Amino acid sequence: MIAPTLTFHGAAGTVTGSCFEIGFARRRVLVDCGLFQGPRSLEALNFQPFAFDPAGIDAVLLTHAHLDHCGLLPRLAAEGFKGPIWCTEATRDLLGIMLPDAARIQEQEADRRNRRADRADEPPVTPLYTLADAEASLDLVHPMPLDEQFEVVPGFQARLWNAGHILGSASVELFVGGTHLLFSGDLGPDNKSFHLDPAGPRGVDHLLCESTYGDRSRDPVTLEERRAALEAEVIEARRHGGNLVIPVFALERTQELLLDLAVLIDSGRVPNLQVFIDSPLASRATEIFRKHRRELHDMKGADAFRHPGFHFVESVEQSIGLNRLSGAVILSASGMCEAGRIRHHLRHNLPQHGSTILFVGFQAQGTLGRTILEGARRVRISGRDVAVRARIRRIDSYSAHADREELIAWVKARQPVTGGLLLTHGEPAALAALKNGAAALVPNVLVPEIGETWALPAGAPAKRLKTGRTDLREILHRDWQNDYADLTTQLKQRLQRIEGERNRREAIARIRDVLDRYGSARTSRGKRHA
Ligand SMILES: [Zn+2]
Repeated sequence: MIAPTLTFHGAAGTVTGSCFEIGFARRRVLVDCGLFQGPRSLEALNFQPFAFDPAGIDAVLLTHAHLDHCGLLPRLAAEGFKGPIWCTEATRDLLGIMLPDAARIQEQEADRRNRRADRADEPPVTPLYTLADAEASLDLVHPMPLDEQFEVVPGFQARLWNAGHILGSASVELFVGGTHLLFSGDLGPDNKSFHLDPAGPRGVDHLLCESTYGDRSRDPVTLEERRAALEAEVIEARRHGGNLVIPVFALERTQELLLDLAVLIDSGRVPNLQVFIDSPLASRATEIFRKHRRELHDMKGADAFRHPGFHFVESVEQSIGLNRLSGAVILSASGMCEAGRIRHHLRHNLPQHGSTILFVGFQAQGTLGRTILEGARRVRISGRDVAVRARIRRIDSYSAHADREELIAWVKARQPVTGGLLLTHGEPAALAALKNGAAALVPNVLVPEIGETWALPAGAPAKRLKTGRTDLREILHRDWQNDYADLTTQLKQRLQRIEGERNRREAIARIRDVLDRYGSARTSRGKRHA
């Protein structure tokens, strides 16, 4: 009997770019079609040709609306894909704002590069995809409820299970060619707002499990403990007299905070609090949460998002008007402070002793959020030097991802796994740690690489048919721009720590010297080869 095949086009050896191709009897189905996100060399992969013919894909099964899972769907459709995109109804609604927003950012980015003077003689940059491409891909979406088996294409049966990660998120169970598969998608933690703990079937042939936090364990924090932490921050920020500015992700984190703030206001713990939501995308995402509020398990049908203390800011003028406030809470995106209206609020509030900046989300290396969190005294925002005098605070118990123990518990609950476990969506350290942790539970724990194709027989170990793309190894595992970002975030602080102006200038001269030496080594080598 011929077994179905599985090819890894992304989220293998790395977290983002989720895209898995399942082939059987001349039919081909994708699970996810996401963007690579992170360092520039990784994002460049989004512009490479697809490793398959988009017109030859029969259907897509989509786990959720985060861009690293869905963000290449517009390009897939633009290049000839015409099949159905299956996902939950909430994911469909979220795609309706996420994909057009991503397209606008792609169009603006291409436009910005084309206007650069140093590119005047080069051919124009075209955006990865356009708003029209995003809208065309939305026409292909077919919503499906959780827990119901359906035919994806003839020969492929699927069922979506609650993944507990964000609104609409699902794991994908697939029956194809006699083999029983389960793709975790991204898995949520226990004790999360809105969603029940992740679920799934028991007894599969091959299990694919995400590994984002495969090497991290959190102390378990209950909803009430987290709300108490937020309450303490709000009260302390008020005592200092200024605003409380919270950089947020538009999707899910904003709504979790709003629910927690509504509970705190209504129970009299932080009376008369005024909360401003200053992100058009976050406001639109909140409307979709309102629409699906009956699926959100701890809302109890109540409409917490329409609270008299909440103000959704629309225009740029209104946004600038928030500068006059004091003692208010301002939620604004982007979550890592790299773009969006949050930068304007940081520029205004960072220099003020009375203001508080509260981080509630992951801050990647090299981002403005990370720089502020690590204690920089001055930062550069939109071409201006900004002094940091505000209080910098963080709550790290908000998370949309299962930690190491929760991932292992999820794998355990899927037993018996007769073929094996394939670990995806992780950096090398997280993958290695989870592999260790799961080895005692499941036979054949594998860590596939991008480009690899595996045969997945029922009841037997997966067999590798094709090796991975060696050209990507360096991009995935090392990026000089990461090291550069890391160095530059600390450079000024480290120079300031050097005693005396003269020593500082000497250190700078030596750095220049090293750069010159490498520069001239390259030139002389170049000449020799010429
Ligand atoms: Zn996700």
